[in-house]
Amino acid sequence: EDARARRQFWERVLGGPIAELVFAGRDHEAEGRMQAELERSGAHPETGEVFLVGAGPGDPELVTLRALRVLQSADVIVHDRLVSQPVLDLCRREAERIYVGKERAFHSVPQEGINSLLVRLAKEGKRVVRLKGGDPFIFGRGGEEIESLAAEEVPFQVIPGITAASGCAAYAGIPLTHRDFAQSVMFVAGHQKDGKLTLNWDALVRPGQTIVFYMGLAGIEALCNGLIENGMRPDMPAALVQRGTQPDQRVLIGTLDGLPARVEESGVTAPTLIIVGEVVQLHDRLSWFNRGPGTG
Ligand code: SAH
Repeated sequence: EDARARRQFWERVLGGPIAELVFAGRDHEAEGRMQAELERSGAHPETGEVFLVGAGPGDPELVTLRALRVLQSADVIVHDRLVSQPVLDLCRREAERIYVGKERAFHSVPQEGINSLLVRLAKEGKRVVRLKGGDPFIFGRGGEEIESLAAEEVPFQVIPGITAASGCAAYAGIPLTHRDFAQSVMFVAGHQKDGKLTLNWDALVRPGQTIVFYMGLAGIEALCNGLIENGMRPDMPAALVQRGTQPDQRVLIGTLDGLPARVEESGVTAPTLIIVGEVVQLHDRLSWFNRGPGTG
């Protein structure tokens, strides 16, 4: 009985929130928590913790070491549709998995539902991982989810991930900046609201810049036409990367005026990323991943 209590104590300290505080460089708080833990003999469960974790764009090798450690000690994993199966396979086997697909998925949970789910699980004392594709702070609503945790005083940490733009660009051989072609990059949400794009076109068509559109597949024709109408040259190189970093990654290369038709013909499905700018022409020389018939 005594040995069991001792084991549980050390498990709590080394695998739980106190160790997390040390890893986060908050030694002082860790010491305080350790003291409190020593004084109490674990009479009632404490609040757990939520980890907002970036899963990266699909290749499980692109998960950070910190994310891996957290995935392997989680009690519950709350994930959505962008998280690839190989990344889910890295999670602790005993962990409960809760799928909260987004808008288009059938069994979707509205955003308010996800926020309160995270709060409830943490208050049950669980180590909760909220696992999101790419980076949680880039078009990932990560901010909204931790706002409600902060309001409820649930402890949380954020673990960044490789965002789709970095992953797709690297695996497609398209450097997003290049001294000869682009000195800046813009990450833009390309989805339409009520069938319309509300974008700052003047800022988008500036020279010397690469544009990366997330969520742009449905509106690709409107995106390309909008850029041309606002002054970008119709033969500006443009690429579409489907399922970037994954074994079935596909890259379509074209020009602003030609890419939408190519995409239509090729039967492309989400998730896809669109890259527009002079840098796209580098793909010809620099592509290295998964080269074979039907790509490039
Ligand atoms: N937080 C995520 C983005 C979420 S928005 C991130 O940082 O990557 C969802 C969009 O991301 C998709 O519509 C698509 O445009 C893009 N995306 C995510 N993963 C992708 C992948 N493996 N290949 C291509 N596009 C991807």
